[in-house]
Amino acid sequence: MRDTLYKSDVFAMACGQFEQAADILELPQDVRERTLYPKRCLAVTLPIRRDNGAVEVFEGFRVQHHLTMGPTKGGVRFHQDVNIGEVAALAMWMTWKCALAGLPYGGAKGGVTVDPSKLSPAELERLSRRYMTEMIPFVGTHVDVMAPDMGTNPQTMAWMMDTYSIQLGHSEPAIVTGKPPEVGGSLGRKEATGYGVAHCTRRALEDASIPLNQATAVVQGFGNVGSHAALYLHQMGVKVIAISDVTGGWHNPAGIDVRAAVDYAARNRSLKNWNGGDPMSNDELLALECTVLIPAALERVINAGNAGKLRCKILAEAANGPTNNDADALINARGDITVIPDVLCNSGGVIVSYFEWLQNLQNAYWTEREVFAKLEGMLDKSRMAVLAQQKRLRTNPRTAALALGVERVAAAKKLRGLFP
Ligand code: NAD
Repeated sequence: MRDTLYKSDVFAMACGQFEQAADILELPQDVRERTLYPKRCLAVTLPIRRDNGAVEVFEGFRVQHHLTMGPTKGGVRFHQDVNIGEVAALAMWMTWKCALAGLPYGGAKGGVTVDPSKLSPAELERLSRRYMTEMIPFVGTHVDVMAPDMGTNPQTMAWMMDTYSIQLGHSEPAIVTGKPPEVGGSLGRKEATGYGVAHCTRRALEDASIPLNQATAVVQGFGNVGSHAALYLHQMGVKVIAISDVTGGWHNPAGIDVRAAVDYAARNRSLKNWNGGDPMSNDELLALECTVLIPAALERVINAGNAGKLRCKILAEAANGPTNNDADALINARGDITVIPDVLCNSGGVIVSYFEWLQNLQNAYWTEREVFAKLEGMLDKSRMAVLAQQKRLRTNPRTAALALGVERVAAAKKLRGLFP
């Protein structure tokens, strides 16, 4: 790996995964270099006025990983630990995810180094608008299309769409996806990532011949993705026995009342002081015995220290990069856990973002039933492709999924050639 400005633990982890896929594909060195490194990035300084009148300055980023297969696509993260290396890793994962799903996009990601829980709604609006304002020269409906990620949500997207549209002088809904339906968002987009996680989990349970009503699930992270995954699994008959967020975890072997937890979190902005289960730490939660473990928060929460302690049969990676490379090797060596890799498991989000972009460009809107039916079809197609690739390359699901994405991008780059 070269010494680049993206140098960080998360970027190194994404590069390590890429190398495993590139090795198994026997990609030549020059193709690797061309396929791996992000095409371009922008770093911005974001001054905003706090509610008390003081001016505070935040740092923001956007990384576009490759421009070979269409516009770039990826979320915007608001989190206190965001840095350019993490954003680049997330952009790279978006590339493989889009290619695996067959979407006409390269990967991108954005972020602002801020703890959103410390800002008021009015301050969050000013920060979101300022971020989009600074990004205007770098994005576009056929250049780079943003979406929500950790710490951002449909409201953030509405503010960003409004800011961009005001500059243009007309409404441009296709500049971001994950908007509320009232301003051009797709029905089902808010639920799509969690729905896709639940759908992939159901398929893995079918493969393992485990009836849904005999399965248990543990979910780490109870934001957009984790809460919807828990809700859909609960609806399918799976017993959700533990959930958590940044404030801690809750365990109830009789089954968590998922709907009550969602309502509580919506009212209180977190699960803090919730009384729907026995409190436990996030570390304890990861080691609970269950059928399905769903990390749906940050990257690298499963590491060499806890991979040996996991007691799940299926690891459904709802978050991006939740398993670091040491843990991955340990899990592969154990051989008793089926991994649904992030680039497949959470791809429902970007797939429905693609549907939203199509609907905005055509000004024609689909029903929720149409959205979910098309989503399931695309997820099943990706899943079958990963299974076939696993057999062809005699490898694990993660390397197979990444290798599919990597080889599609490398092939497109080869066909387009080098300019000049
Ligand atoms: P979110 O901001 O809605 O929710 C994040 C949740 O994680 C919150 O409940 C938060 O309290 C919890 N959390 C944060 N730090 C934690 C910690 N240290 N331990 C335990 N819990 C913690 O974010 P989201 O949109 O649900 O995204 C979650 C993950 O899913 C991220 O990895 C994101 O990149 C990935 N993802 C999101 C989407 C999407 O459509 N939103 C799509 C694909 C992947």
